[in-house]
Amino acid sequence: MMASSYYQNLIKRVLEASTTDNWEIAVREWDIVDCEEDEEHASECVCGKENLRYLFTIRNRETGRSLYPIGSSCIEKFERDDLDYEVDVQMDMYRLAHAMERGGNE
Ligand SMILES: [Zn+2]
Repeated sequence: MMASSYYQNLIKRVLEASTTDNWEIAVREWDIVDCEEDEEHASECVCGKENLRYLFTIRNRETGRSLYPIGSSCIEKFERDDLDYEVDVQMDMYRLAHAMERGGNE
């Protein structure tokens, strides 16, 4: 599948669960509510893209609908600085945890 198809799938899935068909408005309705790590990279994003490592859950605060799992690159497509920041923080927390795991056996 081509990259643009993933993007089209993402837009479709997000708009289906939003109050509007306007992408620019719809993206503002969503919050990140959870993040998990799949160390096996066995998960597939709502857009169809495979091999996800970080599995985010996003929820629309107007409709109450959730999308899971969604990858960090799809969240970037929302073009919201606050969501990008949240993604960075979550991924850093997992990286830090792994660094600590490697750092000692206490
Ligand atoms: Zn995706």
